[in-house]
Amino acid sequence: MAFKIIASQCTQCGACEFECPSGAIKFQGENYVIVPEKCTECEGSFDAQQCASVCPVAETCVPA
Ligand code: SF4
Ligand code: SF4
Repeated sequence: MAFKIIASQCTQCGACEFECPSGAIKFQGENYVIVPEKCTECEGSFDAQQCASVCPVAETCVPA
């Protein structure tokens, strides 16, 4: 399982990129994306998914 970013809602603030414990978020082309192979859903690192926690836009970092 992995999370994904809804590109049409993302304001590209960049906050999530630095909070991801797995280094799974990167700027690619014109959008921030979550590399599904790298996303651990923060298991073992945090109780809550950090991308979703820090994202200022509700329902933008969601389960893929
Ligand atoms: S759920 Fe966790 S591991 Fe996956 S992209 Fe978000 S912050 Fe990174
Ligand atoms: S924190 Fe949310 S709005 Fe900011 S870059 Fe990440 S997905 Fe986009």
